[in-house]
Amino acid sequence: MANTESLTQMIEISRALWADPKTAENTLSDTLAVVALLPLEGEDLVNRMATALIERFEREGAAVNADALQQNFFKLHPLQRVILIAHERLHWDYERIEGVFDLSRDELETLFWKSRIDLLTHRAGRPILSLPSPSNVTANCPEFNPIRPWSSRYLDHAVSRADQVFLQGHIEHCPSCKGILDKTRTIHFESQAELLPELAPEVQARSMTVLRDLLKISEKYALGSTPDFWTSIRLFVRKRRDIQVLIFMALAWCVWKIVS
Ligand SMILES: [Zn+2]
Repeated sequence: MANTESLTQMIEISRALWADPKTAENTLSDTLAVVALLPLEGEDLVNRMATALIERFEREGAAVNADALQQNFFKLHPLQRVILIAHERLHWDYERIEGVFDLSRDELETLFWKSRIDLLTHRAGRPILSLPSPSNVTANCPEFNPIRPWSSRYLDHAVSRADQVFLQGHIEHCPSCKGILDKTRTIHFESQAELLPELAPEVQARSMTVLRDLLKISEKYALGSTPDFWTSIRLFVRKRRDIQVLIFMALAWCVWKIVS
């Protein structure tokens, strides 16, 4: 069974993909109705939901509407949006994100850096000029790669303990590397302000209720007990909304046969 924390995380990931709140909520419910049948819980369930949601977004080719494109966040690629929310808001570490979205460490570092630069580029409406770069490199300086600077993974707490100790000591004595870190920190900080706004508590509470009701039904299936007729229908309809249209057509046909 998913706890409140797990449900909150699923809601945030869905919101990062579907700009329209109603679509985000409905798609999350539909997807959870299926994924909750798998023998998963806690972090594993959330991870599977994250991949299921992004696969569904890609499969359905959901276009972001013009209103949402007013927000710089929705100008990003869907995977960029999800990894930023997963790390900045849900506090997923690099290992978890790599595993869930099947990315190498280099790919993830590059994607994080590009996502932040893209956000600020969209905000400014032009390329960002004040990017970190080494000014006076010494033999002891960490290698600087402009597409995935060391300073960004350092600020994301994604370096080994040994590297962290080395970098902390080095920065104190190296103005060039301190300059890189300061500029990177500004970019991290300013890009955070462009993320999706926090969800209003009453909206979150309503989504929670919908998802909990749904999980109660799915749990019956997962445990292997036989749900009653109306529970089966409800789960089926949640999974396949178009079935409502079919039921309506069948009823209309019956009525027509009776009166004619
Ligand atoms: Zn240095």
